[in-house]
Amino acid sequence: MPPMIIDGKKIAEKIRADVACDVAALKQSRGITPGLAVIIAGDNPASLSYVKSKRKACESAGMYSVEHALKADATETQVLAIIAELNADLRVHGILVQLPLPRHIDESKIIFAINPAKDADGIHPVSLGRLLLGVDGPRPCTPAGIQKLLESTGAPISGSRVVVLGRSNIVGKPVAAMLMQKAKNADATVTVCHSRSRDLPSITRQADILIAAIGSPEFVTASMVKDGAVVIDVGINRVPDGSREKGYRVVGDVKFDEVAPKCKAISPVPGGVGPMTIAMLLHNTVQAAGKTV
Ligand code: NDP
Repeated sequence: MPPMIIDGKKIAEKIRADVACDVAALKQSRGITPGLAVIIAGDNPASLSYVKSKRKACESAGMYSVEHALKADATETQVLAIIAELNADLRVHGILVQLPLPRHIDESKIIFAINPAKDADGIHPVSLGRLLLGVDGPRPCTPAGIQKLLESTGAPISGSRVVVLGRSNIVGKPVAAMLMQKAKNADATVTVCHSRSRDLPSITRQADILIAAIGSPEFVTASMVKDGAVVIDVGINRVPDGSREKGYRVVGDVKFDEVAPKCKAISPVPGGVGPMTIAMLLHNTVQAAGKTV
C-alpha cells in the first residue's frame, strides 16, 4: 500500500480556522482581542521569514500582532526591557522570542523573564514543568504539532514504541515528554537518541513511530526504518541547489524518496510539521487570552 503523506498544511489550516472562530467568540463575548508579540534580534533570513509568516497568520485569524525587530548587536538588557514591557501590556496575551538569539544573549535568561501566563511558545520552565507533570498548560508548539500529526494518521500511539532523534529543549525533549505521558494520544514507550547514541540504526529500526529532529539533511535512510513505521520529519535544512531561483532547496532530516515507500505514514518537508508550529502558536495565544480575568 502506498504511504499516507501527512498533509500538515491542511491540518494546520483546520486548526487556524478553529482559532479564528475562538478569536471571534472572545471578541464578541468578552471584548478581548487575543494578541501575540514577537521579538526578533538579528537578520537571520530563516528567522525573518518565520516571523513574517507568524504575523500574517495572526492577522488572518483576526488577532492583534506586534513585532519588535532588534539589530544583531542588541543587548540582553534591551531584550529584557521589551519583555518587561510586553509582560505588562494588556493587549498582549502571548510572547514569542524567535530563537536562536545572537550568541552574546543568554537565551535562558530571556525565556525565564517571560510571564509564564504569556508563554505562547510553551518553553518557559513553568510550562515545561507542567508538561512533565501532566498538568494543563501551554505545550511547546512544534511538539504539540507533531502530536496532532500523529493523531491524524489514526495509527495507535498508546503502547507503541517511539524513537525521537534529537534532544533539544524545543523539540526532542518535550515531544518525548509529551508522548510518554499517561494521556490521550500518548502512553508510548519512548527512546530519545542524540549525537552520542551508539548504533542508531539498531534503535531506529525498532520504532513504530520515528521522529527525526536533528537538523541534518536526509540523515535517516531506508535501512534505518522499520516496514510500516510512521515517520515524522521535523528537520528544516537548506541545501545548495543551482537549479532553484533561490540557489537552495529545503529538505528534512529524512531521505523522503527512499523512506516513504516503507512507511505507513510520513510527513513531508516542506508541508509537514512546519505549518503546525505556527498553528499551535496561535492556539496557545488564544488559550492564554481566554484565561485572562
Ligand atoms: P538542535 O540543533 O537544537 O538539536 C539537534 C539535536 O540533534 C541535538 O540533540 C543533537 O545531539 C542531535 N543530533 C545532531 N546530529 C545528530 C546525529 N548525527 N545523530 C544523532 N543525533 C544528532 O536542533 P532543534 O531541535 O532546534 O531542530 C532540529 C531540526 O528541526 C532543525 O532542522 C530545525 O530547523 C528543525 N525545526 C523545525 C521546526 C518546525 O517548525 N518544523 C521547529 C524547530 C526546529 P546533541 O544533543 O548530542 O548535540
